[in-house]
Amino acid sequence: MRRIGIGLMAAVLCCTMATATSQASSSTPVPFPKTIKGLKAPVSVGSALDPVPAYVPQNACQPGTPPGVAKLRALVLKTYGVGGAGNTARTCAEGTSEHSDGRAWDWMVNVKTAKEKAAAADFLAWLTRNDGRAARRLGIMYVIYNKKIWASYRAKDGWRASSGHTDHVHISFSWNGARGNTSWWTGTVRPVDHGPCQRFAGQPSAVDTKKVNTKPCPGVSPLMKTTNLPTLEYGHKHSAVSTAQGLLGLARTGTFDTQLRARLISWQRANNLPKTGGLDQPTWAILRTTSVTKNVAKEYTPASARTYGAKNYSTRSMRSLDTGRHVLVLQRALGLPLKRVTGYFGVQTTDAVKAMQRQLNRPVTGTWTGGDWKALNAAS
Ligand SMILES: [Zn+2]
Repeated sequence: MRRIGIGLMAAVLCCTMATATSQASSSTPVPFPKTIKGLKAPVSVGSALDPVPAYVPQNACQPGTPPGVAKLRALVLKTYGVGGAGNTARTCAEGTSEHSDGRAWDWMVNVKTAKEKAAAADFLAWLTRNDGRAARRLGIMYVIYNKKIWASYRAKDGWRASSGHTDHVHISFSWNGARGNTSWWTGTVRPVDHGPCQRFAGQPSAVDTKKVNTKPCPGVSPLMKTTNLPTLEYGHKHSAVSTAQGLLGLARTGTFDTQLRARLISWQRANNLPKTGGLDQPTWAILRTTSVTKNVAKEYTPASARTYGAKNYSTRSMRSLDTGRHVLVLQRALGLPLKRVTGYFGVQTTDAVKAMQRQLNRPVTGTWTGGDWKALNAAS
């Protein structure tokens, strides 16, 4: 996607995906060649074909170029020898774009330059032929060029109307594709990688799955704390960014840079919060306590939380990464400092659960069960 302002970008992406149905078109973005050169796989790809990548929009803020993106970029540039390396990662201040979570690459090939146009035509013809066989092997969700979009998950619809992209091919990857875990690179078909998961509604996803996440993300929790400060991420410029930088001992520049992002990730871990790397609502609630406008933790005392938890959650095991009111009630019942009662089952929650299980002579598993609720209430 091209750089567009916040909001507008999200709208464009949304509508490209959602409303292009009626504009199915058989014509390709540029004339495709009769003889196709294509790319050569670095390994024997095997006979099994990767599943069709589903459309998964940007769900984290992760500046960087993951291996699958870097390798395809290198292979394309080497094979065709034309066009610029262009963008992979960008900031997270430009609305929804797979560039922000490292799953997109812009190959700079202009339709007005014959050589570049021919290279793009060859690549796209190769990528999309046979219902997008090569796109599946590479884990490519969709490509956009010269006002046309083609998506693996809508291969039957062929090239559909889109906008812009006359000076570059935009390529969006699935998580498997971005991380290079597809048959093209490895020779084998891997389980679907769901990528980072969002924990709290309206907040950036947690980057706590650096590796492969083969479990579908659980449901998103409503916010346990809200503040009067805006949720900000890498790339934003805002006076509140300066405030946060000051509170975290960094130079107050007002620009959300990678240094602030890195500092936040370790700070969030230490504060029992999802590691989003963003100035999200749960983070502000601890970092700037005077900004809090709602705090569900205050609805419970440790005693009322023990009773409430035993009554309502005795059939529900709670474990690392769980998020929501049930976790908040557990944290309150365990007597965590109010500040650490976040509704997110982080490292401190695991430690507190283990300590309590030890104290109650229960199996020290780090997972809280109905038996633990019973023992806790009996001991209180
Ligand atoms: Zn792009």
